[in-house]
Amino acid sequence: TNAVYTGLPTTIFEVMSRLAIEHQSINLGQGFPDVDGPEDVRRFAADALITGPNQYPPMMGVPELRQAVAASNKRFYGLDVHWKTEVLVTSGATEALSDIIAALIEPGDEVVLIEPLYDCYLPLVKRAGGIPRLVRLTPPEWKLDRDALAAAFSDKTKAILINNPMNPAAKVFSRDELNLIAELCVAFDTYAICDEVYEHIIFDGAPHIPLMTLPGMRERSVRIGSAGKTFSLTGWKVGYVTAAPHLLDPIAKAHQFTTFTTPANLQKAVAFGLGKGDDYYAELSGALAAKRDRLSAGLADLGFAVAPCDGTYFVTADVTPLGLAGDDVELCKRMTIEAGVTAVPVSAFYAGAAPTQFVRFCFSKRDEILDAALERLGQWI
Ligand code: PMP
Ligand code: GLN
Repeated sequence: TNAVYTGLPTTIFEVMSRLAIEHQSINLGQGFPDVDGPEDVRRFAADALITGPNQYPPMMGVPELRQAVAASNKRFYGLDVHWKTEVLVTSGATEALSDIIAALIEPGDEVVLIEPLYDCYLPLVKRAGGIPRLVRLTPPEWKLDRDALAAAFSDKTKAILINNPMNPAAKVFSRDELNLIAELCVAFDTYAICDEVYEHIIFDGAPHIPLMTLPGMRERSVRIGSAGKTFSLTGWKVGYVTAAPHLLDPIAKAHQFTTFTTPANLQKAVAFGLGKGDDYYAELSGALAAKRDRLSAGLADLGFAVAPCDGTYFVTADVTPLGLAGDDVELCKRMTIEAGVTAVPVSAFYAGAAPTQFVRFCFSKRDEILDAALERLGQWI
């Protein structure tokens, strides 16, 4: 019969943001900054729009941006990347993930995924016919169980998809953990799809370590970045992929038939932005670290058990001490409607039965908004 595919769920971000708008609540759910990124980057895009050309840019991305991505790989991680054959521009990291999975995963291939996982991973892997092999982090510190990870790898493993720094757990994988992942990838001859969109949102002086930089990983890793995160311009949807040519070629083929390209003015402005001085990157993570501290301390004062946050602009909190544990989805809806504050239920980031006592808050908001949210929560609890 002509049944439609019913495997695609509604993303939790759409559900919660719609509810937040409906009830005019403070939206700390879906992750986006409430202040737009650097004015000079936006000005660059505006000028480039007027100057043109405004026709299809090259399929792989404008040379300026591919060169800037290659230069960033060198500048921040010491990676030598050939901009013509090893960099692809996509319409956001989401398109990159879709292209990469379409290119690398065939029906029956196993893909190692770490829960709680970013919400598009599972639908994309399943739609490609991939078989998810899930490894759970252990809350509240979101610890990686090394034995469980090793046990997930086998001869059937095609790839691991890892998000570092990790949304929603706000975990930054240690060098030791990354070494273990690299060893497993090499031992089982698998690819590593590395979602590193929060590469510059990492706190307390910790370095970001791309898996691609570890022994044996240069040729088997696909690294994803996003201007949405690095320049607080989530609406632009400009992403970039770095990979060796034998991996980038099939990914670019998938990109041809998905979006083919991305607006040229935005690409050129992001190229300009990537060249900003070290002070820009320090200010980005420094300002967000202060917001993390502000929201975490406020939530802790209210009685939430706040988990550590080493990167990303999210914190997770256990609501058990408040007597609110049981159904995090229902809780987030109730909090939106009754308290006027929206968070995202962490169970949405699991494939099956999930813990139900955690909620995720986004702290990339103006201080007065964070304070107002805390004030409202305080009155409600
Ligand atoms: N991966 C992760 C882990 C994310 O948090 C996000 C989004 N915010 C994306 C991918 C998607 O990024 P983009 O908006 O560039 O598509
Ligand atoms: N990445 C954002 C988050 O985690 C949401 C992106 C989206 O809405 N697709 O909240």
